Amino acid sequence: MSSTNPVHPDLPTLPDAPAEIRHLIGGEWRAGGVLVDVHSPYSGEVIARVPLADEPTVDACVAAAKAASVDWRGTPLKERTQRLFRFRELLLRDLDTLAHLCSSESGKTVVEARAGIMKGVEVIEFALSIQNLDDGAVLEVSRGVSCEVRREPLGVVVGITPFNFPAMVPMWLFPIAVTVGNAFVLKPSEKVPLTAVAMAERMVEAGFPPGVFSVLHGDKAAVRALARHADVAALAFIGSTPVARAVYVDATSSGKRALCLGGAKNHLIVVPDADRDVAVDGIVRSFTGCAGQRCMAASLMVAVGDVRSILDAACERAKSMVLGRDMGAIIDATALERLHKALQAARAEGAAIRVDGRNAPAPKGFEGGYWLGPTILEAKPEMDCAKTELFGPVLTVVHVETLEEAMALGDANVYGNATSVFTTRGAVARFVAARAQAGMIGVNVGVPVPREPFSFGGTKASRFGMGDITGRAAIELWSEQKKITTKWSMQSDMNWMS
Ligand code: NAD
Repeated sequence: MSSTNPVHPDLPTLPDAPAEIRHLIGGEWRAGGVLVDVHSPYSGEVIARVPLADEPTVDACVAAAKAASVDWRGTPLKERTQRLFRFRELLLRDLDTLAHLCSSESGKTVVEARAGIMKGVEVIEFALSIQNLDDGAVLEVSRGVSCEVRREPLGVVVGITPFNFPAMVPMWLFPIAVTVGNAFVLKPSEKVPLTAVAMAERMVEAGFPPGVFSVLHGDKAAVRALARHADVAALAFIGSTPVARAVYVDATSSGKRALCLGGAKNHLIVVPDADRDVAVDGIVRSFTGCAGQRCMAASLMVAVGDVRSILDAACERAKSMVLGRDMGAIIDATALERLHKALQAARAEGAAIRVDGRNAPAPKGFEGGYWLGPTILEAKPEMDCAKTELFGPVLTVVHVETLEEAMALGDANVYGNATSVFTTRGAVARFVAARAQAGMIGVNVGVPVPREPFSFGGTKASRFGMGDITGRAAIELWSEQKKITTKWSMQSDMNWMS
């Protein structure tokens, strides 16, 4: 695969022939399960065939991971970390190739794909620092008695990831999970297996022992088998809310630790004192980035009072965007059809289409792909398009008179991933940050993703389970603390510790 596309440098270079994907189990590339086609969102062409793991394949993968976890947990943290240093070097060495691969299967632009990998690298860098951060604790708690706290891995842990960030979301999970001493099984979305395989090849090259990092391809059958597997100690899931909820129930009812992140309907509140240029840039980038297929995308703009000039400018900016250059493609034909139906339903409910992306031209040579241009609807808060996650480049705008009304819409939102406010007044910013029921708040930031070492995670139906993904919270997620109380001076104490 070359690093530039001959049609346009911003478009990905697609693989020459469909790749035959395999699972990485116990350090070997293995078949197992029926094969299904993977289509590029850019062209609709089949670019890979991926196996959907059956139960024996899931069992084999978990067994290999379990065997590997024994030596790995006994390997000193500093030694475990050395492999991750090497993995980071390999990702940076091959950044361009990986970005094209990720773009070709996910529909992201190459620039977005590269940024996603770099965000994953940031998590790696956090994981590399654990050796210097996490030094445990020991204290003399009574005369001659010490109490020591040690961090220990859980064993075999699993990450189940969505299609929309083929590199970044898996890297939210495995760098920290393996560094703290677990054997990690990645079950990537069956829509984007190529990037997972490319990362796995580099994990092998970096010297991780067989079974410490595995890739198991599959669909809901593989997920169910992993969530219920007796030898899996913990699971993280990232995907849509209905599946997150079901996986959380499956995993926790079989005694696992689980953190399952779900979907979103992020509110972006715009008040009249907002800086026009900052707001327009933030709004448009937020709802069109990754073609709106990210859980942090602004999907509802709450216009408080008269912000007409900001909305008009955002519409003009959205209309000027060119598919393939400024925005990528929709993941598949099913998602595109779902979006078309949602737009028809919004029209039928009485929403006005201010910017209609349905006729935006596909990039030349990529007419077989799944394309939808930026679309802006003006609607009423009670309409479906103002409440449901559409997961595409569609911004719904609703109008309210007061900030209190804007906050009430947030309270009624079943999701709680992110809320942003565009304002030049500190008091407004502080009010929204304190009052909004979302896990991540942006002030003049359209995509308020916390950077390491801060953790990522929402509330309400955007998250099932305790804690957050990435950062310090992830160390807690993937490990437990063992408390050792020791007495070596053999006096017979008469206190309550005797
Ligand atoms: P999805 O729920 O369809 O799939 C996610 C994973 O679950 C995939 O690995 C898939 O194979 C598996 N899966 C699908 N259906 C299943 C079922 N019935 N039972 C068990 N497993 C199943 O999600 P998607 O379409 O790949 O991703 C988009 C969704 O993910 C959006 O809702 C988006 O908001 C959400 N998302 C959330 C976050 C977050 O951090 N909260 C991040 C990225 C994406």
